[in-house]
Amino acid sequence: SAISVSDLEKLQVLGHGNGGTVYKVRHKRTHDVYALKVVHADSDPTLRRQVFREMEILRRTDSPHVVRCHSIFEKPCGDIAILMEYMNLGSLDSLLKTHGTFSEPKLADVARQVLDGLNYLHGHKIIHRDLKPSNLLVNDAMEVKIADFGVSKIMCRTLDACNSYVGTCAYMSPERFDPDTYGGNYNGYAGDIWSLGLTLLELYLGHFPFLPPGQRPDWAALMCAICFGEPPSLPEQASEEFRSFVQCCLQKESSKRWTAAQLLTHPFVCKDQR
Ligand code: ATP
Ligand code: MG
Repeated sequence: SAISVSDLEKLQVLGHGNGGTVYKVRHKRTHDVYALKVVHADSDPTLRRQVFREMEILRRTDSPHVVRCHSIFEKPCGDIAILMEYMNLGSLDSLLKTHGTFSEPKLADVARQVLDGLNYLHGHKIIHRDLKPSNLLVNDAMEVKIADFGVSKIMCRTLDACNSYVGTCAYMSPERFDPDTYGGNYNGYAGDIWSLGLTLLELYLGHFPFLPPGQRPDWAALMCAICFGEPPSLPEQASEEFRSFVQCCLQKESSKRWTAAQLLTHPFVCKDQR
């Protein structure tokens, strides 16, 4: 049977994002726990459309590594609420803050699960476009799932729509700033692979790879570093497999980057799989 908002009670705030708040909620009768993302969208039709797009995508997905979405509610005040699977250990960025940097075996496990989710999404012509540590959620079964489809969209035949300036620009790939130089035969999928590479690097180093620890981003400098600098790489002490994996993700030329399906065969994610 369908769940209605009045069946749910708020337990606590899980976090705030761009234009919304995520709550931990409980179903009053069944006591099932969910996450409820409430977006204030009354006066903003663009934001509203974006949320419905997010919902549409989540409803169509059925992957063990993509956060499951149960329903969407429109409140009389204009707010939109998305009821989704509760991931009780939170996001990888909060785990980084509380537990410190990730070991290589943990990152291999993260990479394998995120790649499985990305392979599923890309196979269904969905580009995420905002992959980053805060959009990767973990539960106590140590399952890692991709969340937050606010800016992703279903790939249509019109490629220029995928070039639009959305997403967190820190994790954006060179071809999204400069498609003429780094685009090759541009398809947006490779942008998600770049973001995965940066995410793994950040979880290993403990800080965003293009910036020294603690430094606040200067967006213009960051964009220059992404487009004109060498891609960031792992230090010498990291294993050969891990360094190679990150290198395959962080090719500046999008056509040289490996696909999710190819990366699933890389020794870094295959070697300790029993
Ligand atoms: P952005 O708005 O750029 O996506 P964000 O990812 O931090 O930033 P939200 O997507 O609104 O913002 O999420 C806010 C926080 O709520 C997340 O960082 C995460 O810690 C928590 N959260 C989101 N969804 C869930 C969920 N399904 N289960 C548990 N915690 C969640
Ligand atoms: Mg998010």
